[in-house]
Amino acid sequence: MSTRSLIIRTDGACRGNPGPASIGVALYDATVPGSDRPDAAPIASISAAIGTTTNNVAEWRAMVAAIDFAAELGAREVRLLLDSKLVVEQLQGRWRVRDAKLAPLCDEAQRGLMRFATWSAQHVPRDQNSRADALANEALDRALRGGPAWIARRPEEPNLVAPRSHATSSAAENQATRITILGSGASRGVPRVGCRCGVCLSRDQRNQRLRSSVLVEWHDGAAERGVIIDPGMDLRQQALRHGIHRLDGALVTHIHVDHTGGIDELRAYTDAQDTVLPIGAGVATAEELRLRWEYAVDGRTAPGAGIPALQLISSDRQIQIAGRTFDAIPIVHGKRPAHGWRSGGFAYLTDVGSVPPASRELLEGLDLLIVSALRDLPHPTHQTVDEALAVIQAVAPRRALLTHLDHDLDFEDLAARLPAGVAPAFDGLVVEVPAR
Ligand SMILES: [Zn+2]
Ligand SMILES: [Zn+2]
Ligand SMILES: [Zn+2]
Repeated sequence: MSTRSLIIRTDGACRGNPGPASIGVALYDATVPGSDRPDAAPIASISAAIGTTTNNVAEWRAMVAAIDFAAELGAREVRLLLDSKLVVEQLQGRWRVRDAKLAPLCDEAQRGLMRFATWSAQHVPRDQNSRADALANEALDRALRGGPAWIARRPEEPNLVAPRSHATSSAAENQATRITILGSGASRGVPRVGCRCGVCLSRDQRNQRLRSSVLVEWHDGAAERGVIIDPGMDLRQQALRHGIHRLDGALVTHIHVDHTGGIDELRAYTDAQDTVLPIGAGVATAEELRLRWEYAVDGRTAPGAGIPALQLISSDRQIQIAGRTFDAIPIVHGKRPAHGWRSGGFAYLTDVGSVPPASRELLEGLDLLIVSALRDLPHPTHQTVDEALAVIQAVAPRRALLTHLDHDLDFEDLAARLPAGVAPAFDGLVVEVPAR
């Protein structure tokens, strides 16, 4: 039994509208043959009374609860089988939710779905949803008898469960590094403000790109660790979207504002954790960080005093954060010094103009290379898609993702023309890199 790939069925129930309401959620192991049949046995479920509300609110609350539960159980792929065509269309963003009570729940569900590598939603006939319907009705009957409001049944074998941030996953998975693409966009983001081009107007959420940034997470045997590479202008929004509640530090690739504009937001972490956070950069970048953020890095302000309390670490070779080593990879990006960062089997190279031969040698044997490709037209300081592909071919990582994508590049069009093993990144994509 596995929770990596789940089928989700949900239902909301209501006696009267509005009236006492409840939700039912059934999760199935999608790797088991026949698990999409209506009579299959769920591996986990929720049966919960949610107080007095409308039927529509109950439907959406069921969806949000199901998505959270699937994420908690470590799912990477989810397939929603829903008995409301309206909800399927709204979830996929094709139809708008106009009801003020429902719109935030739809937003929450859509945000939640971004935690999975892939998801889909499909309409199924109402009579195929009897299991979720029964779980919802059970909850109402139980609540009316004075029983417990919320019952969640989890899979029986806890060591097969790999939640985002708890130690119940297997030892091998604990060693893996988890990379979350927090943003995959160029310096203006996509859509650009005021632009009416096809990509900026696209409904494909993979074309909606916040400023480029990644979260690196691992388990060091004692605790979950997290380091953000490039605290950029969208950091606050990225932290909220992905539930990044704590951080061990930050690394900066270069001084440009799309990569450093969120440094002040780091006070959320230095406040909440009551700690000074390390922020690492190459030597020249660090000097410039010190000039611009002197008040945050001069060591004179304690955490919690209204500004971020940061400790600047600099090296053009290697930086340690939370016990993990990050190797600096010099790259050319206009006149400013810039570095990519490599740790174990992955490397993150953004805003690449070109990668010097000596740096290519530092990129051998990668499991995952994340590298920037701005557009197809040449640019003075950014490599094109073809130039990025040439770098990928030269250093031959097992897999590669293209990031820092501008509004010239449509996700699907780009994906269709990339060679095997290379894909465009998109916001919310999670990739695991095995330990070595
Ligand atoms: Zn940039
Ligand atoms: Zn545009
Ligand atoms: Zn730049």
